[in-house]
Amino acid sequence: MTTEPRFIVLLGPPASGKGTQAARLREMLDLPHVASGDLFRENLKNETDLGLKAKEYMDRGELVPDGITIAMVMDRLGRPDCADGALLDGFPRTIAQAEALDEALTERGHEISLVPCIAVPDEVLIERVSGRRLCRVCGESYHVKFNPPQQAGICDRDGGGLYQRDDDQPETVRQRLRVYWEQTSPLIEYYRQRGVLVEVDGDQSIDAVTEDLRTVVGDS
Ligand code: ADP
Ligand code: ADP
Repeated sequence: MTTEPRFIVLLGPPASGKGTQAARLREMLDLPHVASGDLFRENLKNETDLGLKAKEYMDRGELVPDGITIAMVMDRLGRPDCADGALLDGFPRTIAQAEALDEALTERGHEISLVPCIAVPDEVLIERVSGRRLCRVCGESYHVKFNPPQQAGICDRDGGGLYQRDDDQPETVRQRLRVYWEQTSPLIEYYRQRGVLVEVDGDQSIDAVTEDLRTVVGDS
């Protein structure tokens, strides 16, 4: 495996499995997992101004404005553990965010090395979201049917209680999917033109998707 800095962006609609796969890949790649949704939820748990501001948008299934989001993620990427790269999940979600990320990486002499895009049909995503449960402590993602914890309601990693996100309600999810197709899906073409996009079939078992991702990440 190369020792060059590696910045990998996991792209895909809500509930396509980005967080689940990032948790499995981060150890293999030895990269920090930088998930914008997790950063917002951490801020909300700590009741910071940023968290309370973001909640208004998250509850409506809309994107948090670019200015706030870019500043938050850039701050995270500026920490020492990201010096050798990062596994980005949920960011960028707009062309403006992608351009800001390119600019910041270029300044540091780095670039995006790979963008796996996890494709899953909308009706499958709705089913995944309705059974999703998250750990209150570490944010690990489970599913009541497709990826249950060993003990119902309890995280396997740290024993934290599991909860359902406020924005994982069917109406909000439909809005998040509309937002994905309008504002985020243009990134597929953006990264294809830069030669870093790889499409991955996300409508398979969790293990099968991990295998496909391991292959594309290993080959890049
Ligand atoms: P999912 O896992 O379903 O894709 P996330 O946890 O990534 O959802 O994001 C939850 C919510 O946080 C989004 O619906 C949006 O309101 C906000 N959010 C997360 N990342 C971004 C981003 N890059 N830009 C703007 N808003 C974001
Ligand atoms: P994202 O981070 O893209 O929003 P998650 O990783 O949180 O998505 O996955 C959404 C839900 O779907 C979770 O409940 C997760 O356990 C489940 N899930 C993820 N990948 C698969 C898969 N390949 N098959 C079935 N369920 C999955």
